[in-house]
Amino acid sequence: MHDLNADLHCHSTVSDGTLSPEQLAQLAKENGVALWSLTDHDEISGQQRAAAAARAVGLDYVSGVEISVSFAGQTIHVVGLGIDPDDATLRSGLADTRDGRNRRAMAIGDSLAAVGIDGALDGAQAFAGNPEMVTRTHFARWLVATGVCRDTHEVFRRYLVRGKPGYVAQQWATLQDAVSWINGAGGIAVIAHPARYKISTHEEWALFDEFKAHGGRGVEVQTASHSDADVAKYSALAQRNGLLASRGSDFHSPGESRIELGALPALPAGLTPVWRELHSRIARAT
Ligand code: AMP
Ligand code: MN
Ligand code: MN
Ligand code: MN
Repeated sequence: MHDLNADLHCHSTVSDGTLSPEQLAQLAKENGVALWSLTDHDEISGQQRAAAAARAVGLDYVSGVEISVSFAGQTIHVVGLGIDPDDATLRSGLADTRDGRNRRAMAIGDSLAAVGIDGALDGAQAFAGNPEMVTRTHFARWLVATGVCRDTHEVFRRYLVRGKPGYVAQQWATLQDAVSWINGAGGIAVIAHPARYKISTHEEWALFDEFKAHGGRGVEVQTASHSDADVAKYSALAQRNGLLASRGSDFHSPGESRIELGALPALPAGLTPVWRELHSRIARAT
């Protein structure tokens, strides 16, 4: 069971991916995914399409979302798996979280204009598939398309990050709210890509402590941004904290993502995979 090809983290045009939910379902099937979840940022309007497309191609599906959270002055991402997309509290919480993205996008445009890069807001909006979800990824794609940077990795070194042009701090959901929306909607909350956060050991300890206290239950162990050492570290952390282990590529785009949908290594043995607890929430294709 630990070596099931589950891919429980990816993005469509509903947030900052470049493929539609239907194209992702097709790609997941082609790449041998056995259990799939679409986890768009702060938005569940793609869930019905993803579930229908998964059924059409013969793929087991579990609903998902990736919620932006502010914690210790950082942005942390919490994935919710098996949530009821019709849950009213989750829906209004996500709407509140999306609110303010347009104001932030304007401020990002102004900040880039201040260093001589004009037209970024219009450019980013043209790349966004969902007008409520103008993300830094869309600014990054525009900065590449206009030749300011070679690729999005260069963008996130030179722009849009703290201390660099185009960085605008944003207040997202609290950890407690995100976990309670997910739990209230019948889902399982999972800390996404933990190795990516620039937080101290003490803050990380506090993050997992508070996450568990609020009812969080899982951690991504296998994800594209984790090195082998990170996988080992978070496997041990999952075991020590009694957390379920998840696996998700965080796939955004064929041109940008380091790992294809469904192409991650298996979870290490000895962990409890999150899908063990998702049985009742999985829409079986057959
Ligand atoms: P936002 O929610 O608007 O702050 O945008 C966050 C998104 O930017 C993430 O979900 C990633 O897709 C992307 N991103 C952030 N940092 C990086 C990075 N270092 N390299 C590539 N993409 C990144
Ligand atoms: Mn993203
Ligand atoms: Mn993320
Ligand atoms: Mn993601």
